[in-house]
Amino acid sequence: MKIETACIHAARNTSHSTGAVTVPIYQSSTFAHPSFGQSTGYDYSRTQNPTREHVERLLAALEGGAGASAYSTGMAAVATLMEMFKPGDEIIATDDLYGGSIRYFNEISTKNGLLIRFVDTSDLNALEAAITADTKAIFIETPTNPLMKLTDITAVRRVIGGREILLIVDNTFLTPYLCNPIARGADIVVHSGTKFLSGHNDTLAGFLVAKSPKIAEKLDYLKKTIGGVLSPFDCFLVTRGIKTLAIRMEKAQENAAKIAEWLEKQPKVTQVYYPEMGAMLSFRMESAEAAQSVLNRRSLILYAESLGGVETLITYPMTQTHADVPDAEQRGIDGTLLRLSVGIESAEDIIQDLDRAMR
Ligand SMILES: *Cc1c(COP(=O)(O)O)cnc(C)c1O
Repeated sequence: MKIETACIHAARNTSHSTGAVTVPIYQSSTFAHPSFGQSTGYDYSRTQNPTREHVERLLAALEGGAGASAYSTGMAAVATLMEMFKPGDEIIATDDLYGGSIRYFNEISTKNGLLIRFVDTSDLNALEAAITADTKAIFIETPTNPLMKLTDITAVRRVIGGREILLIVDNTFLTPYLCNPIARGADIVVHSGTKFLSGHNDTLAGFLVAKSPKIAEKLDYLKKTIGGVLSPFDCFLVTRGIKTLAIRMEKAQENAAKIAEWLEKQPKVTQVYYPEMGAMLSFRMESAEAAQSVLNRRSLILYAESLGGVETLITYPMTQTHADVPDAEQRGIDGTLLRLSVGIESAEDIIQDLDRAMR
């Protein structure tokens, strides 16, 4: 089954007898048992819920994993994932990571006794040099946020070789439509389902997809124990969003390529960061004043955090997504940098809005 088809039909549940084309929202916290020793297979919605099971099976199918677990937010997924590790364990993470993940690693994982080494994972020599006997995982994001640096997942797997190090990939930006980390050697895929998967800027969600049944089982156990699960209604919204993932990604990517090309030609734009795929791009204006003027003068494009929805959003990483990142400025996340999450409007209208805002 091709991915466009899988987005719509994978994980279809044939055990329900009504013929409902859409998986119902099982808005029930608990499930009754017919009699002693009998069970419907469902006990309590923190542990398992049919609507959530459906979206979990869908994610596992799209990412080619053995199992998936759904969380209330992407950060709840990351927080649950980090409970796989114990004090003294070392994790190597991409230095140019999502700001919320950096904050979690620095403030919470560190407090819990983990050592996090931030490394430019696009540099395989730097990565190799950072590995120690205590390294338990490599956590990468590709492309990175907001500087769109690419890490070669297959090459990282090669660097790991026979060592017992988990390769974790945050695939929020490219989605399984454009990248399959597990096929390239990842053990666990992280998603903020808030972004492209749900796609309409209307819900928060997070996912962990595991390559092996053993890790999937462990994550499921952590999920029910910690309890940051995705609600039935939000599971329904993500499932609905995923049905149009393929056409949204195609259109948004096509728009992003056109906008990147246009930005390259603008005299006030000094640099464009577009990795030639996906719908995310960043660019630099000649000064912080010029960047702020774009934020003040755009009108169709919404000035807002987040990404991956049908609406084009512009973000100012310095004061929004990366405000809490200690060395952001040294790494080039300064006042000149703007980030676009390109939506599925007409590229012409988006460009016209940027053009007006830059005058
Ligand atoms: C948004 C985001 C997260 C966090 O997800 P939430 O749903 O906001 O908690 C994690 N990683 C990346 C790459 C993100 O863009």
